[in-house]
Amino acid sequence: MAKLLEGKTAAAEVRSEVASEVAGLRERGVPVRLDVILVGEDPASVTYVASKERDSQEVGIESRVHRFSAGVSQEELASLVGRLNEDAAVSGFFIQLPLPEGFDSISLISSITPAKDVDGLSPESVGRLAIGLPSLLPCTPHGVIQLLKRNGIELSGCEAVVVGRSNLVGKPLAQLLLRENATVTVCHSRTRDLPEITRRADILVVAAGRREMVGAEHVGEGAVVVDVGIHRKQEGGLVGDVRFDEVEPRAAWISPVPGGVGLMTRAMLLHNTVTAALMGSGS
Ligand code: NAP
Repeated sequence: MAKLLEGKTAAAEVRSEVASEVAGLRERGVPVRLDVILVGEDPASVTYVASKERDSQEVGIESRVHRFSAGVSQEELASLVGRLNEDAAVSGFFIQLPLPEGFDSISLISSITPAKDVDGLSPESVGRLAIGLPSLLPCTPHGVIQLLKRNGIELSGCEAVVVGRSNLVGKPLAQLLLRENATVTVCHSRTRDLPEITRRADILVVAAGRREMVGAEHVGEGAVVVDVGIHRKQEGGLVGDVRFDEVEPRAAWISPVPGGVGLMTRAMLLHNTVTAALMGSGS
């Protein structure tokens, strides 16, 4: 039986660390505030933003949502990004993605100052991560690393295989695993003989966005399996990219969906916000 990589426990640790840092900053009169730019009414985006607001309040972070209809202009959004960059009361901010069609999200994200880029997705933040400079780290890949480390899983020297090469998850995760001295292989949709490669992994992270794609044939005995995927089942509830029941007996550790990486992603946004506030305060 595999042990569970519980996001609940690790995320609670991160939140409690954040809450005490926020309290310390407050005592010194340093504001900790997370702003969000939300455009349009995509139900998933509206729900995500509401949960990020709730998460912030729970740890004492003030949050503001700048809501716009899909008819807002690119220039108006760019001007708001400029104002938030300059506003000393704002510790960090992000643009809820995806933006409705017609917006140039890369150009907007590129103009976020790296010290406030709490999503860690701007080209400058990504470049800083790649060359080993300090930066705010993208929340999902950083959440995966924290989930592993906080469960005592050794990364140095291990063989790590990442399935997926997106800018949001796969690529930055590969960088972070390298930084932890893992030997990293990144697979994608053109990879030949995926099971042959994934079976070699000590640590297998699956971020393919394909419901229950990874089964027992992809997993070596005693591997650590992290499932980043999230899919809504028609009958209700969530499921990941991994066939949990099939993989669990082979693995040493496995992350559940829900209750795994998703909780860590949310916690790392709070961590980034307080880190941005600390940087902004010169601490
Ligand atoms: P994405 O942009 O769609 O990227 C998927 C990646 O998987 C691509 O690189 C793709 O390869 C690769 N892939 C697709 N099918 C494959 C196959 N059959 N074999 C090997 N590789 C394959 O997705 P994403 O944004 O990285 O997200 C991945 C999953 O994580 C989604 O389910 C998403 O909902 C979830 N997610 C969860 C969280 C969280 O907090 N838990 C956060 C973000 C995302 P190509 O590059 O060749 O197309």
